[in-house]
Amino acid sequence: MLSVFDIFKIGIGPSSSHTVGPMRIAIRFLEEAASAGVLPNAVRVKVDLHGSLALTGIGHGTDKAAMLGLMGFEPDKTDPDAAQEAVALVRAEGKLRLHGGGEIVFNPATDIDLRGDILPVIHPNEMRLRLYSAAGVEIFERTYYSVGGGFIASEKQLKTKSEDDRIALPQRGPHAFSSAADLLAICAEKNFYIHELILENEDGFRPRAETEHRLDQIWLAMQSCIDRGLNTEGLLPGGLNVSRRAPQLWAKLHEAPLANEREQIFDWLNVYAMAVNEENASGGRVVTAPTNGAAGIIPSVLKYYCAEDGANIAHIRIFLLTAAGIGMLYKQRASISGAEMGCQGEVGVACSMAAGGLAAVWGADPGQVERAAEIGMEHNLGLTCDPVGGLVQIPCIERNAIGAVKAVNAARLAIRAGAASKVTLDQVIETMRQTGLDMSRKYKETSEGGLAVNVVEC
Ligand code: SF4
Repeated sequence: MLSVFDIFKIGIGPSSSHTVGPMRIAIRFLEEAASAGVLPNAVRVKVDLHGSLALTGIGHGTDKAAMLGLMGFEPDKTDPDAAQEAVALVRAEGKLRLHGGGEIVFNPATDIDLRGDILPVIHPNEMRLRLYSAAGVEIFERTYYSVGGGFIASEKQLKTKSEDDRIALPQRGPHAFSSAADLLAICAEKNFYIHELILENEDGFRPRAETEHRLDQIWLAMQSCIDRGLNTEGLLPGGLNVSRRAPQLWAKLHEAPLANEREQIFDWLNVYAMAVNEENASGGRVVTAPTNGAAGIIPSVLKYYCAEDGANIAHIRIFLLTAAGIGMLYKQRASISGAEMGCQGEVGVACSMAAGGLAAVWGADPGQVERAAEIGMEHNLGLTCDPVGGLVQIPCIERNAIGAVKAVNAARLAIRAGAASKVTLDQVIETMRQTGLDMSRKYKETSEGGLAVNVVEC
C-alpha cells in the first residue's frame, strides 16, 4: 500500500538503502524479539551484512546505521549530531543500550561482520541479526532486506512475493492503478489531473488537511536541507577529500544573481542539487526523493521553479503529488534500489519524477506529464552505480546536478512535443527493469567496477 509519504520520507544520509533501511531493520528486529519475549535474555547482538550492504557498507555508513537502529534511533526523528555522538560513545565505551532492552557489551569491529563475499540470492542488500543469551546460545535470528528508498522487507515477505506483486495495485483509495496506462485512463474518465487522483487516494490513509500539512513539512525539510548545504563549507567525510562546492557557487551567484548569462539557469539548478547531496554525503537530514543518493534533483527543480519568488504552496503540492505518483509506478513495477537497478533506479527515477512534477506545474495534461516522465527516464537508461570509495560523493553529487537539468529539459520537450510519443512510460519502466537485471553486479552499488576502480583514492 504505497503512499506519497512512502516515496518522500525524512531520514539521514548518506543512503536510504544502506543507512535508513538498516536503521529500520534493526528496530524491527528488536521489536520482533520483544514480541517473542526473548529480548530480556539477550546479552549480545550480532549483525551480518551481506552483498552490497557489506561492499559499500562502510562508505555508506551502514555500520553506524546498524548501531543507531539497535539503540532505537528512528531515521525521521534522528538529529544527525546526536547520532554521531551516540555512535562515538558506543565505539569509546564498547557497549550500547538495546532499543526496548538492557545495556549490552558491543564491539562494532567484531559484532558487525561485513561479508561482501556472500552474494544474497533474494536481494543484494541482505542483513542478518542474531541475539545471544548469557550462555552464548542463539535465542533469536532474523534476515531482512533493504530494498531501496528506505523500504525494508523480511526474508519471508520477499520469498512469498509472487511475480504478480510487481504489478499489484499499490494504492489505497478510490483510484487504484497498476500502470501508467491505468493512471491515464482513470484521469481521462474522471477528468482529473494526476495530482488530483493521487490526493484522493491519500484520503484513504488520513484526512485531507493532514496530507496537505505533511506535504508542506516535506517541502520544509527539503528547503532546510538546501539552506544547510548552501551555508556549510569544508571537506566531506570519508577520506576522499572531496570539498563541498555548493557554498562557493552560491556566493558567486549572489554576486550577480541577474547576470544576463544564458546558462545561469544551470548554475541555479546545480547549486541546489549539490547543496542537498553534499548534506546527504555528510550524514545530514534529507528527504528520500525517492532515495537519498538521488535526493537533490526534486528539491532543486522545486526550489528553482516554484519558490524562487516566494513559495507557491499550491504548485509545490501539485509537484510533489505528481512526482510521487510516478515514483510509485517505478517502485511497484521495477525497483528504486541502486543495488538492483544501478543508478538508473535512483537518479534516473528522480529525474523522471521531477520531469513529471514540473510538467504538471507548467499546466501539462496527464498525457504530457506521462511523456515528461518517460523522457526523464529514457535518457538515463543503463546508468550504472559505481561510487568511488563506496562513498555517496563521486559521481553522486554532480550526477544529481546533471539530473536536475535533464529533468527540466525532459519537461520542456514533453510540453513542446507535437506528435504522440512512440515510447510509453510503462515501456520505459519495463526497459529499466530488464536493463537492471542484465547489468553486471559490478555496476550495482558494489564499488567493484566503473569509476570506483578507475579513480584512484587519495
Ligand atoms: S551512483 Fe547513483 S545509485 Fe550509486 S550511490 Fe551514487 S547516486 Fe546512488
